[in-house]
Amino acid sequence: MSNSTGVLYVVATPIGNLADIGQRAVDTLRQVDLVVAEDTRHSGRLLRHLGITTSLAACHEHNERAAVDGLVARLRAGSDLALISDAGTPLVSDPGFRLVRAARAAGVSVVPIPGPCAAIAALSVAGLPTDRFVFEGFLPARHAARVARLETLVGETRTLVFYEAGRRLGACLADLCAVFGADRPAVLARELTKLHETVLDERLDELAARVAGDPDQARGESVLLVAGAPEQPGDVALEVGRLLETLLEEGITVSRAAAIAARVSGMSKRELYARAQALHDAQHSPSG
Ligand code: SAM
Repeated sequence: MSNSTGVLYVVATPIGNLADIGQRAVDTLRQVDLVVAEDTRHSGRLLRHLGITTSLAACHEHNERAAVDGLVARLRAGSDLALISDAGTPLVSDPGFRLVRAARAAGVSVVPIPGPCAAIAALSVAGLPTDRFVFEGFLPARHAARVARLETLVGETRTLVFYEAGRRLGACLADLCAVFGADRPAVLARELTKLHETVLDERLDELAARVAGDPDQARGESVLLVAGAPEQPGDVALEVGRLLETLLEEGITVSRAAAIAARVSGMSKRELYARAQALHDAQHSPSG
């Protein structure tokens, strides 16, 4: 495959069902000089399944910075490389950004071999608007940081797409309910393409209750999609978040802050109470 400078192929691999690998992906993984993988043991199993014997090298979040120079040197010397991650499309909440940026800066051709991506698969079946959406990846792991991030997104009118690990799903849904309001439509797309594939299409409070009441619903890997906020003139929802935050910082009680914000905005006091409570908890959370 190589001429003077090599090519970096960015190859999507399955997100569960191995039959989802594309023919071009298989051909590329077979023909390149080296497959650069997030976890060589994990990807070794995929290559063996495909009958591919190409050598593997590791490039993951802990060594990417150090590995990039050597990999770009190999590309410049004429080797063709394929970058893969543990699942789906590399660089989508996965390593590879530094390698791709460095390869492009070195004048190396970077070629996509598209295929599975959990966010796109989830959007394709959720039944939420997909003409405009925003990919938010993983929310912060800690409650206070998560509430703060959600507060910046509360007025977002595009469909929101989050990745979430099973163990944090319940806490994440509880915070989404508090900040976005219990009745926001949402979709939980879990274990896509796998045996226990489930797509639940409910309000945020219904999803939160279902996950809280049935630990099986939090198992495995999930994409959480949330309908965008209704269009509101001047981003009222965002402004109200700032108002609540300021009132609470001034020592005003949660109930009083919610009442003031409701009067100013015309929004429901019940909804604002839940947001104010989440903000208050986040401001006073010992873990930050
Ligand atoms: N690069 C991958 C992609 O293209 O989707 C995503 C990698 S990211 C480290 C892993 C997260 O993707 C999981 O925590 C989950 O949120 C989501 N994910 C991956 N596979 C999934 C699946 N089969 N069903 C639902 N979500 C999945």
